Amino acid sequence: MSLIENIKSITKTVSDAGNHELYQKLEEVSKEIYELSLENMQLKEELRILKQKQDENMEKVFKDGAYYFGNEGPYCTNCYDDLGKKIRVHEEDDNMGIIYNTCPKCKFRSIKQKYPCKPVLLDTITF
Ligand SMILES: [Zn+2]
Repeated sequence: MSLIENIKSITKTVSDAGNHELYQKLEEVSKEIYELSLENMQLKEELRILKQKQDENMEKVFKDGAYYFGNEGPYCTNCYDDLGKKIRVHEEDDNMGIIYNTCPKCKFRSIKQKYPCKPVLLDTITF
């Protein structure tokens, strides 16, 4: 028998016995138990959401020279591995065929992507 069912049973017994004062006190206790049960359910739901978020954060993926956590990223691997901090990296194209992920905090650079460089026409270069 659940707690609420026990209270209902006790309340009925007291009501049948005709003790009005005790009956009212039991009603107050019943309301408090009901409110605490609702609060408990809300807290369990909040805890479930927080655990879910934590699990998402734990899924660390190394890709393109950076870390990704779920759909978030890219983050600096150096800062995360060393300090446990998520610092978002910035893309930098050297215009020579390499795109880097560069950390604004520790200046760590990793290669994100290489691409074929366009050939430079000699007559476009001025000496
Ligand atoms: Zn960094």
